[in-house]
Amino acid sequence: MSKGFRIGDLEIGSGFLMIGGPCAIESEEQLFETAKAIKDKIQILRGGAFKPRTKPGSFEGLGVEGLKILKKVSQELNIPTVTEVLDTRDVETAAEYTDILQIGARNMQNYELLKEAGKTGKLILLKRGLAATIEEWLSAAEYILKEGNDKVILCERGIRTFETETRFTLDIAGALIAKQKSDFPVIIDPSHGTGRKELIKPLVLAAKAAGLDGAMVEVHWKPKEAKCDKDQALTPDQFNLIL
Ligand code: PEP
Ligand code: MN
Repeated sequence: MSKGFRIGDLEIGSGFLMIGGPCAIESEEQLFETAKAIKDKIQILRGGAFKPRTKPGSFEGLGVEGLKILKKVSQELNIPTVTEVLDTRDVETAAEYTDILQIGARNMQNYELLKEAGKTGKLILLKRGLAATIEEWLSAAEYILKEGNDKVILCERGIRTFETETRFTLDIAGALIAKQKSDFPVIIDPSHGTGRKELIKPLVLAAKAAGLDGAMVEVHWKPKEAKCDKDQALTPDQFNLIL
């Protein structure tokens, strides 16, 4: 049984947790309109202020300005938030603006970042690395625990395989094993895990049927205009329909 953590009134690890929101925070209007439209279907709002991009020159996020927008929208709509940190130097600042800190796939084995994030005492959403074994993923979580912080959610977001039809291969079996082997809630991210919108609904259902703890989905008020991951973002209507 996974541990339960509280964020205000929200009990994490009790029901099926839905996290939704845009890949990146682009403007106050974009985040507010997206969040408002899906607010009733999510427990946590996501939005990246610091974006790890495969190719230099891509939109890397609004930084602290993005964090400020996230906090403002969170307060206006009374919804907790998660946002990614990429750099130890930003951890303390990010922790002032969000309820949950995300460690992304590319930083799963950035041990200094794990320690720094752990020290804040915040809930940490730890994604599985693109090529990390389950053992390595759980070891990464131990770095957070070692800081006296046991508030961790694990997120399976797809791993690298030979398959190219999907962006990554979403390892639901791996997510289940991570759940068996640890006390943490384990959720999936079918948006990054597949890169394909039409697979999001069946995979959220699969996660729920399998007894996993939740899902994180990218939603954008105008996906065609998204500055990041536009092909995998659902519109609020599409997202609400699934939920
Ligand atoms: C994200 O959730 O915004 C993200 C970049 O995910 P990942 O680290 O899984 O690629
Ligand atoms: Mn994304």
